[in-house]
Amino acid sequence: MKIVFATNNKNKIKEIQSMLPLSIEIISLESIGCHEDIPETADTIEGNAVMKANYVTQKYGYDCFADDTGLEVEALNGEPGVFSARYAGEQKSAEDNMDKLLLNLENEANRNAQFKTVITLNLNGEQHLFTGIARGVIILEKIGDQGFGYDPIFKPEGFQETFAQLSLETKNAISHRGKATQELIAFLNKSSS
Ligand code: IMP
Repeated sequence: MKIVFATNNKNKIKEIQSMLPLSIEIISLESIGCHEDIPETADTIEGNAVMKANYVTQKYGYDCFADDTGLEVEALNGEPGVFSARYAGEQKSAEDNMDKLLLNLENEANRNAQFKTVITLNLNGEQHLFTGIARGVIILEKIGDQGFGYDPIFKPEGFQETFAQLSLETKNAISHRGKATQELIAFLNKSSS
C-alpha cells in the first residue's frame, strides 16, 4: 500500500515510516511529481487539511494524508487559528508572530490557548480525520530556544517549561502533532493487519 504524505519534508516522512509496517510505504510529493504549492485557502484548520489531501488524491490519484496546525487563543476567540503561520504578515516570521500575539494579550488575564493539529487521510475512497490537541497558556515573554513557531511563549499544561525548553522527544509525546500522528498510525496499523 502506497500513501502520499502531502509534505516535502524528508525527515517527517522518515519519522512516520519508521512507525509503520513495511507493507505501508509513505511517499513524498516530490516522488509523485507534485512540485506546485498546494492551495491552503480554507478558513478552518480542518478545511485546510482536507483541501490538501483532496488536492493530491483528485489530481494525482493517490491515497494521501495531509496535516494542518494552528494555535487557538481563548481570549482572542480562537485567533490566530488558521492564520498562525502568517499572523503578523506574509513574511511568516515566528518572532513577529509571537510579538503580535504578546501585544494582543497585553493586560489580558485569560492566557489559555491550545495547539490543534488535524490530519486528513484519504484511503480507499474514504476520508478519515484525526485531531490532536495540546492545551496550555501563553506566557508573558519568550523563553527557550528549541522548536519553532510559537514554542517559546507556549507552556503546556502540567509543565513548568515552554515547548521551546523541552526536548523534541518530550514535546512529541505530548504535542498536538504527536497526538494526531499517533491516532493516524494506530489507524493505519489496524487497517494493514
Ligand atoms: P503547519 O500547518 O504545521 O504549517 O503550522 C502552521 C503554523 O502554526 C506554523 O507556521 C507555526 O507558526 C504554528 N505551529 C504549528 N505547529 C507548531 C508547534 O509545534 N509549535 C509552535 N508553533 C507551531
